[in-house]
Formats: sequence, structure tokens, C-alpha cells
Amino acid sequence: MSKHEFQTEVNQLLHLIIHSLYSNKEIFLRELVSNASDALDKLKFLTYTDDRLRELPFDPRIDIRFSQEENTLEISDTGIGMNEQDLVENLGTIARSGTKSFIEALKADAKGDINMIGQFGVGFYSAFMVADRVRVTSRKAGEDAAWIWESEGKGEYTIESGARDSQGTTVMLHLNEEGKEFATRWAIERVIKKYSDHIPFPIHLHYDATSYEGEGKDRKEKKERKVEKINEATAMWRRPKSELKEEDYKEFYRVLSHDNDEPILYIHTQAEGTMDYTTLFYIPRKAPFDLYLSDFRSGVKLYVKRVFITDDDRDLLPTYLRFVRGIIDSEDLPLNVSREILQQNKVLAKIKNTSVKKILGEIQKLAGDPTKYTEFYREFGKPIKEGLYQDFENRETLLDLVRFKSTSTKKGEYTSLAEYKGRMKPDRKEIYYVTGESEETLRQSPLLEMYRDRGIEVLIMDDEIDEIVIPSAGRYGDLEFKSVNRSDAADDLKTDEDREKEKELDPFIKRLKEILGDRVKDVKASTRLSDSPSCIVVDQNDPTVKMQGILKAMGRFDFGEFKPILEINPRHAIIQRLRGVEDRALYEDAGLLLLEQAMLIEGVKIDNPAQFVQRLNRLMEKAL
Ligand code: ADP
Ligand code: MG
Repeated sequence: MSKHEFQTEVNQLLHLIIHSLYSNKEIFLRELVSNASDALDKLKFLTYTDDRLRELPFDPRIDIRFSQEENTLEISDTGIGMNEQDLVENLGTIARSGTKSFIEALKADAKGDINMIGQFGVGFYSAFMVADRVRVTSRKAGEDAAWIWESEGKGEYTIESGARDSQGTTVMLHLNEEGKEFATRWAIERVIKKYSDHIPFPIHLHYDATSYEGEGKDRKEKKERKVEKINEATAMWRRPKSELKEEDYKEFYRVLSHDNDEPILYIHTQAEGTMDYTTLFYIPRKAPFDLYLSDFRSGVKLYVKRVFITDDDRDLLPTYLRFVRGIIDSEDLPLNVSREILQQNKVLAKIKNTSVKKILGEIQKLAGDPTKYTEFYREFGKPIKEGLYQDFENRETLLDLVRFKSTSTKKGEYTSLAEYKGRMKPDRKEIYYVTGESEETLRQSPLLEMYRDRGIEVLIMDDEIDEIVIPSAGRYGDLEFKSVNRSDAADDLKTDEDREKEKELDPFIKRLKEILGDRVKDVKASTRLSDSPSCIVVDQNDPTVKMQGILKAMGRFDFGEFKPILEINPRHAIIQRLRGVEDRALYEDAGLLLLEQAMLIEGVKIDNPAQFVQRLNRLMEKAL
């Protein structure tokens, strides 16, 4: 027998699970049955593709046994099994990132949502909610040795050699006080029906039935062992749509996603003809925890002729649709498909294309209900926007689906591009947008003054990906996107009088440039301002200040430094008066403050706050 210590993360997780006040403990059964089903899927696939396993006698099934006297519950499968090394790797460590965030979430809330455990790839450990000891006996397919893994979930586990008649895994739980109720036929049936009815393998429940024989004095009690199949056990998605009820779809979603929430919508397609395939997709209500992690899990499982092939192919749908959950089942692919073949497979590419169009089509329908759509968009707006640079084929549709905040909407509310277009003055050809840190600052940005004065709507883009996405989208129909943050943005709105006014300012600007030196790329007179004396913008091809921040956060310092351009407002009283100031020191203070206030208002840090305050105080002294 060998003793092993759990990895630190596993220990933290177990500690939280054991001490959790989470009441919905029944989900442990869903997780263990789901693992048994995965193990059967994996072996089924190998019996088609692995020569050594082709001849293996394989009766795919899950068996559940319990004893009320002993307080035990046992889930047994005839799946792929685990050898000694597998046991150490799978039931002693957690490889996936994201576990940390799950642990944090649980720590923050004693009743934390353990229901999510399956989505984080650590479902097995939920057994310790209802058991004070867990014993796993497993024999890997194609190997003779069996192994016993055992633990009380407190720091360590043991592994010793054991025996098992055939390949597969048996998980035996010694139920604790709270787990007791699961040593009954009714509790087990109820939980299986609720979460695992659509597991495509038969689940057999073994129980003792009491019957009576004879009459009167001769009447005798007779105990009999009975076995009953307690789940539907078909590939739900292959049943005719007419037979399926709403509840079937919801149940299957729970099986597939380990999510107790109802999905926003599902799309079930059974295609026959030139290509035979079935797809069933769901859009969850809440974004998966790993939506923005680079090692996000694929939400789509691939089957061929009902045989599970992989749940680890992130290219079954485009990356931007990674929040979609579902299955693809093809009749036309060979069962022994390899990863490389999948990548270039024409059949799969076609299914993928049609699926994307279908999914986007359903999202479009959802947009018909603004309240529901806003709910969807709050969760998945970002990935939908990513589609604008990932999926050129569907760009038109995606442009229909994106929403933005705008100077014409209330705070926190969205508008579509079609609505923007509808509000536009007929002679305009541009969609104006401003990018920056937060909706709050952007709504008050001096950059918007001129547009407000002329009644031109500007989209407010406070999402960091907007800045990458919008330029690559380029146009919306015949309208061009135009960033308000750039130095040339207002050029087309200038009148001759404006140009005249700007010219007058040339000598003043020359003086200001001397003072600001290399703090700025340029100083220009600008007609875009009305209430503010100055603002900063970036040169046409430079990244905006915000983008520079993103690049720095990504550890990219190699792009050089882009200085802002200071624009000043010729009509503003401060500028008018400053032109006549002779006092060199006063002129310098005022000039620098024009730059610093413009930076602050855009949410940009100024280099030397102490000097800024000194300058401000000197001017206050003079004014008071
Ligand atoms: P997940 O199922 O999301 O990978 P779990 O914590 O539920 O996470 O299980 C961890 C791993 O343990 C599985 O990926 C699998 O490799 C292994 N495992 C668990 N149960 C079984 C089983 N019944 N048969 C074979 N392997 C299993
Ligand atoms: Mg699992």
C-alpha cells in the first residue's frame, strides 16, 4: 500500500467541499454518473479504433448498488478504467486552470454554488459532500491489474493493488450523516431521473424487494434482489423531434453542461439527404467561468454514429461561439477519425458552417425581444463582437447583432447599428464612436462636445475589445466607422470660419509647443470643442491611449511610446486671454495645465501630480 498527498489545490477544494453548507448535495450523483458515462464513451471509441481492444468483451453499463444497513452507495461502470498512474493523476491532482477561481468563489460564500463543480472539471470530489470515505476500485481496459484508491478527503489518499473481474471502475461511498438519504431506492431514482435520464448508457439500480408467500399462519416474508433500468438510455438527440418534450431538452442540457439553470434557447437539427447529421446546441443563461481563459473548455462534443469521439476539440465551432454547449453527431465521418483528419475534414467543415449560421439566426430571432436580448448581450456581447474579426463570412449578421452604448441612449442602455442609422441625418456617411476606459468618463469627454452641439450621435465604446474589433469591421453597409479619438476626426465638420479662427492661433500655438516640448506629438487648434479649453487625441495611425494601456497590460512594451496631440479651443475664454499673457511663468503654468486637465479627463495618469498641484495652487493664488 502506498500513501500519497493531495495536491494543494485539491486539499483546499476538499476542505471547502467538506465544510460547505451547500444544500443541494444530490449533484454528487450526477457527477459520478457523468464520469462513468465518460469512461464508457472513451472505451466505446477505443473498441473501434484500437486493435488491442477490438476483441474486448464490452457490455457498456452503469450499476448502482446501496446498503441501508452499511450506509454505502456504489456506482460501477464497465468503462475505460484507470491504472495506478491514472489514479494518481486524475484523483490526486487538478491540471486545469480556473480551479483557483472556483475555490475563491466557494471561499467567498459558505453556501457557494457547488453545483458548478462539474464545469470546473473537479466533479469527482463532490462525493465528499455526502461521504466520509471514498473507495475507488478500477481496472484499466486491456490490463490485468486492478487498483484501489481510498481516501477520507483529508490531506491524503492510499493506493493498493486489488482485484476486479473486468475492466471498469467502482466508486464506493461510505455515506455520512447527510448522505444517508441516498441509500434508498427512491432518492436514487429521483436524482437519476432529474440529471442523468439522457445518459446514453443503461443505468441499473439493484435493490432488495420484499414479497410475501402463503396465507395466514403460513405467510412468509421473502427478500429478493431486483435489478431495474432506471434511465431512458438513448442518445436523446437522435430521437424524432416530434417525440421530444421541452423537459427532455432541459434535462439533456443539465447532463451536458452540469448547469442547473435553464438554457436561453436550444437548436435541434436533424439533417438528412446529401449529409446525414444531428446537431443540438444550447445557449446558456450565464457565461461559463472560463469564457476569457486561454485554456477554455470546448462546449461541444463530437459523435460519429452515436459514438462519442471527443469533447476536446475547440474548433468544432468558431472561437467566438465558445459559450455554446451542445453535440454534433455525424453519420458520414469514419469512426477512426484522428485529430489531424478532423481539422481538414470537409464534412465537418460543412456542418460547422451551417451550424454557425443556424446559431446566429436564432440569436437574431432573440434580438426581436429587446429585454431578453439585453440579458443575453450582457453575458455574451463580448464574444459576439470578437466574431467581427474572426468570421468575415457572417460579418453582416454579426453587425446586426452587436449593440453599443451611445450618446442617444440612457446610461447602461444599448443601441443597434440599424437604430443608429435610423437616427442619422441623411447627409452623413459616418458612424462616429469614441473609445475609452469607462462609460462615465466617456459620456463627459470634451471630445464629444462638437458632436453634441451639432446633434450628431456618437457610440460610446468602453469595452477594451471594441478598439480592435471596430476598425476590422470597417463599415456597416455604406457607412464608415469613424473614431472621435483621432486628430483628423473633426476635419470634415470644419467650416471656413473655423479654419480662419484656427489660423489666427498659429503664433500662440508655436509658443505653447515650446513649453510642452516632447510631452506632446503636436498642438493643434480644434473646432471640436465648445465648453472645454483643450483635449487630447491620438494621431491617425497611433493606438489610442486606452489601447496603449491594453498593450502594456499584455506585457508589450515594444511598440514604442505614442504621445498625444493636444487640441485647443480657439473660442474658449482661457485660450483667448492666455494669448495676451506676457508673464513667462504664468504662461508656462497655464500651458501645462491645459495638457494635464485634458489627460485627466480622458482617464490618463499624469506624470507628476505634485507639480500639477503646485501649478494649480499658483494660479488659484493669483485668481483669488
Ligand atoms: P472531469 O470529469 O470534468 O474530468 P472529475 O473530477 O469528475 O473531472 O474527474 C476527474 C478525472 O478522473 C476524469 O477526467 C477521469 O479521467 C477520471 N475518472 C473519474 N471517474 C472515472 C471513471 N468512473 N472511470 C474512469 N475515469 C474516471
Ligand atoms: Mg466529471
